[in-house]
Amino acid sequence: MSGSADKPPRALLEWPPEAFDEWFRARGLPGYRARQVRRWIFQKRAGGFDLMSDLPQPLREELAREFCLWTTTVAACSVADDGTEKLLLELADRQHVECVLLSDDRHHRTICLSAQVGCAMGCVFCATGLDGFERNLTRGEILEQMLHLQRLLPAEERLSNIVMMGMGEPLLNLDAVLPALETATSPDGLGIGVRRVTISTVGLPKGILRLAELNCPYHLAVSLHAAVDELRNQIVPANRGVGVAAILAAADEYFKKTGRRVTFEYVLLAGVNDQPGHARELARLLRGRNALVNLIPYNPIPDLPYRTPSPSVLAEFTAILAQSHIQTATRYRKGDRIAAACGQLRRTM
Ligand code: SAH
Ligand code: SF4
Repeated sequence: MSGSADKPPRALLEWPPEAFDEWFRARGLPGYRARQVRRWIFQKRAGGFDLMSDLPQPLREELAREFCLWTTTVAACSVADDGTEKLLLELADRQHVECVLLSDDRHHRTICLSAQVGCAMGCVFCATGLDGFERNLTRGEILEQMLHLQRLLPAEERLSNIVMMGMGEPLLNLDAVLPALETATSPDGLGIGVRRVTISTVGLPKGILRLAELNCPYHLAVSLHAAVDELRNQIVPANRGVGVAAILAAADEYFKKTGRRVTFEYVLLAGVNDQPGHARELARLLRGRNALVNLIPYNPIPDLPYRTPSPSVLAEFTAILAQSHIQTATRYRKGDRIAAACGQLRRTM
């Protein structure tokens, strides 16, 4: 919890559930009341305490005096032809982040959440990195993204999947990301299955090892983009001083500890990392590993010099990996007309 010990934050979503339970205990109220409040917020989408109709009126009034539910507001909302919806949220300090709701024909309702305002990693092909880094998001701000996106769905639909693939690097903010995901996956939170949560990282061995150590049940995606350090140092500056070998070793450890197959994301940039030689290097690196490669044709960002590879180049890259028995999936663009696709999120619409 942020804030000093004698004056806890008013924002309820910043409170660990145990501390909220304690707030009720300290007033001699039954433990189920805290769970009731959580269910109103996360499952019945109540936007305020006054709507929590099965709580005694004086309790509703006291909650409203003591806590606030929202610290963020929706500054803008856009909808793409393919149904993707993007929200720009304004935070209490006037900073902005974006988050996205993606719907697919298998009835998955996936939300893509931000972990930071901006990003310090500076990947050369990503819009988020262009604006630099401002600050980490709090647990409550990550939860509010979920709640705002949930409110876009019709009442009978539920959120099914979470991907930490919005703005920023989640492994540099695990102290907020993990508690928020715990609430998202708990039965009196959003109740999303732990196997339906993906954390995507630029590849920070320390953070990956911390997740492995915690035996995190989530799916891990490592944004690789190049199999050899010389090229990876150029397009993912965070690789300098880290190196592909250390990232792979940490990913192997994650697989060993959790039993969960790691996904490697690979943004294809025409003429940069999409040639047959690059595919062979990637095949050599991953050979013998139980891994999935997620190929992401570059989503264009204004002012950046990169291009999306042609379908035939993508097909050849995929075929070379297949020859080495490496499984691939291609992530086709979603929401790119409203700049809601991978790597296009910014602090303004
Ligand atoms: N910082 C984390 C998570 C957010 S980025 C990470 O890097 O993994 C989510 C995904 O979008 C990453 O795989 C990232 O490499 C990819 N991405 C970034 N810019 C992109 C672009 N212009 N086109 C396609 N994918 C992009
Ligand atoms: Fe940051 Fe991920 Fe964008 Fe790289 S791709 S700049 S790590 S958000």
